[in-house]
Amino acid sequence: MTDALQTLFRGVKGAGKRIIAPLQRGDGPNKFRLSAVDTATTTHDGDNGWAKRPPATLECPRCEADILQHNARDNIDCPRCVAEFSHEEFPDLELKSLTCPVCRSEMTHGQRHPESLDIVEWATCDGCRYHWEFKHSYSD
Ligand SMILES: [Zn+2]
Ligand SMILES: [Zn+2]
Repeated sequence: MTDALQTLFRGVKGAGKRIIAPLQRGDGPNKFRLSAVDTATTTHDGDNGWAKRPPATLECPRCEADILQHNARDNIDCPRCVAEFSHEEFPDLELKSLTCPVCRSEMTHGQRHPESLDIVEWATCDGCRYHWEFKHSYSD
């Protein structure tokens, strides 16, 4: 009885080896295919130029209401009074804040050349790290 079990066991082991052996002769797992997943990651970390400026909230010089100018080329129309301004008048109006186009947080903004330009030149979002930089000319 014991001999019979050992013979059976040996037989199973032998069968297992015969099946596994051909697979072990291959090249093994493909390491290139496994690491390729990492390279697919992309991050949206920022934009440059006036056309890509984040949405701005300006103060109406007539009634002091907030005016949201979503795009840098949009007209600036006060939602409360009849005041209307073209996008070229942006530097004449008081900028209250810029809104992050990614997560809609209020951005930290500032100027790099306050003596030569009277407009916002950079903005950073503290929420998602999105950064906008004016960089080129106003007409860009
Ligand atoms: Zn107004
Ligand atoms: Zn953000």
